Amino acid sequence: MLKYFNIAVIGFGLIIAIVLIKYKPIYKVSISGEEVGYIESKEDFVENIKENMTKETTKNIDTIEIEQEPEYELKLVNRTLKTNEEQVIENIEENAIITYKYYEIAVNNETVDSVNTIEEAEELVNYMKEENQDEELDLTIVEKYTQEEQEVDTIQDIEVAKVEIQEKVTEEIEKQKEQERIDAMPEVNGIKLANIPVSGTITSRYGVGSRIRRGAHTGLDISAKTGTPIQVVANGTVTFASTSGAYGKLVKVDHGNGVETWYAHTSKMYVKPGQEVTAGEIIAAVGSTGNSTGPHLHLEIRINGEHINPQKYLYN
Ligand SMILES: [Zn+2]
Repeated sequence: MLKYFNIAVIGFGLIIAIVLIKYKPIYKVSISGEEVGYIESKEDFVENIKENMTKETTKNIDTIEIEQEPEYELKLVNRTLKTNEEQVIENIEENAIITYKYYEIAVNNETVDSVNTIEEAEELVNYMKEENQDEELDLTIVEKYTQEEQEVDTIQDIEVAKVEIQEKVTEEIEKQKEQERIDAMPEVNGIKLANIPVSGTITSRYGVGSRIRRGAHTGLDISAKTGTPIQVVANGTVTFASTSGAYGKLVKVDHGNGVETWYAHTSKMYVKPGQEVTAGEIIAAVGSTGNSTGPHLHLEIRINGEHINPQKYLYN
């Protein structure tokens, strides 16, 4: 009886040995019921993939989630069958939802750059504060998360970021100064004047009499060389650009609210009626056309057609 049992055990062992020579155990991997391939070992398989993905990138990965956890099925297959770990890994990686973490630096509430870590962000902010001690800058760090890889693709090395941010900060400071300058400029009937049309010497004030004209002076004369660019003082629409008697070559710009500015005696006009112009745009050049004794700009400001004293607002 024992003899038969021994023979049975040996026989069974032999069968297993033969099976193992010919066959091997592997795991069939499926995702959402669909076969993706074969792997040798499932020991921490997904964890290892995640770890590798984190190592292989310089980007700051916050979390990696696998949309569909793979299912494993132990199988005995012919030893000649090759496993395809690489393909399985690729498939799982494609299935992964990666959340990236990064930090935005904002100057005066405007995002200027992004870096990968909080340490870099703090280093940048401190650097900016030191470099721009005299400026009033509001520097903030905002923690951001994204699943869009492109958003973190543009993140630069911190040294590059320093240069980039300084450029933007300089721009921001200039913008701020420009805004302060405009804020300090006057308004005519609710219309903000952004600049003077030409810099030069006042040669005739508003309201004075003169032997070359009848009645009081309706504008302000600023002498400047022929050809000096004339800038429009506020945003508006050109309503007139033509020769007009004593005014010579005259440009009129309507700024809304009944406010108009006139630029007279010009040598050249660069705009046409109907054209929209923005404050500071060059619309004409100083000249001496019309009733004029030398190159100058005759500037008029009108409210609802009535001329007012430009010096109440400009050149004072
Ligand atoms: Zn004049």
